[in-house]
Amino acid sequence: MVVAKKISSELSVLPISQARELSLQSTLGELPLYDFSVRSDMRGGEVAQAFQDNPLLPGVILIEHDRLLGMISRRRFLEYMSRPYGLELFLKRPIKSLYLLANSDSLIFPSDTLIVMAARRSLQRSAELLYEPIVVEIEPTVYRLLDAHQLLVAQSHIHELASQLIHQLYQELEKANHELRSLATADGLTKVANRRRFDEYLDNKWHELAREQAPLSLILCDIDCFKDYNDTYGHLGGDACLQQVAYAISAAVKRPADLVARYGGEEFAVILPNTPAAGAVRVAEEIRMNVKALQIRHINSCVEPYVTLSVGVATMVPEPGSIPIDLIAAADRALYESKASGRDRVSICA
Ligand code: GH3
Ligand code: MG
Ligand code: MG
Repeated sequence: MVVAKKISSELSVLPISQARELSLQSTLGELPLYDFSVRSDMRGGEVAQAFQDNPLLPGVILIEHDRLLGMISRRRFLEYMSRPYGLELFLKRPIKSLYLLANSDSLIFPSDTLIVMAARRSLQRSAELLYEPIVVEIEPTVYRLLDAHQLLVAQSHIHELASQLIHQLYQELEKANHELRSLATADGLTKVANRRRFDEYLDNKWHELAREQAPLSLILCDIDCFKDYNDTYGHLGGDACLQQVAYAISAAVKRPADLVARYGGEEFAVILPNTPAAGAVRVAEEIRMNVKALQIRHINSCVEPYVTLSVGVATMVPEPGSIPIDLIAAADRALYESKASGRDRVSICA
């Protein structure tokens, strides 16, 4: 009489906490695997007992002459046993006879197969095979069983991880984009808006206020005798002075829609949307006083022994269909007027 022999009967089910440590690159080897192999000559009755003793066991691996014959799932086993004469036919016979009759192909994957890959292949099976356990080859001739449900749970966990990762990457991308945008629109030395941003913003506001028929003011500021400042204190000293002046100008500008920009070398511009001339002159005066209050020493200035600003102001209600060139020209004329009449003052283009 052939003695049926159980080769191994360990259930190595991982706790759920371990499943949470899965990554996008996790492999089948990291999943709960059932170590339950029997020789193909084991009787059906003994296999039935094994299923009864291990309620979670999804199937058994069949070994013949130390090699893998195949796998028979609990579901298929019970289905054959419950057929007419099933018990008589299979209980006392080697499990191999039931296996050959069932003739079902098993999915076999090496244990280093990615979970996402295995899940995809597994889901490509026909509907009736969808829940069949999967054979995992741990090493040559060493096999374990993976419950299809466990595989799908792992797959859904990885899907969740991937979604979180995409969300996180998206946020990092947004942040990087934001930083890039501000780098592209800010002046490197003074950190106020650069000339490109000034042109773009003035154009936008010009068209917006042309539609609203509301006033747009522009202030142009130019440091007095700045060439002499550089000659006296060096270029680095000049740069530091430009930073302080930019800061003082920004401090005078309060509304969120106002924009301070570096217009050129030692010239700054301030765009004041929805601001009539009187308001713009007030801001211009505050800018001039703020810079004066810094009392940056400039012993060779042609005005005072400290740094001063000349300022020009222009205000217009934009004509629909026009461009802001007239506004810039008007502010420039006012600035020239301030220079010509002694510097350190605010002029407005009437
Ligand atoms: P005015 O009162 O008529 O405006 O005289 P000014 O000397 O200020 O004007 P001018 O246009 O003759 O000289 C401007 C100087 O500004 C020339 C240049 O050395 C200096 N300048 C322009 N850009 C920079 C900069 O980025 N850093 C430094 N340190 N100096 C700059
Ligand atoms: Mg200048
Ligand atoms: Mg100057």
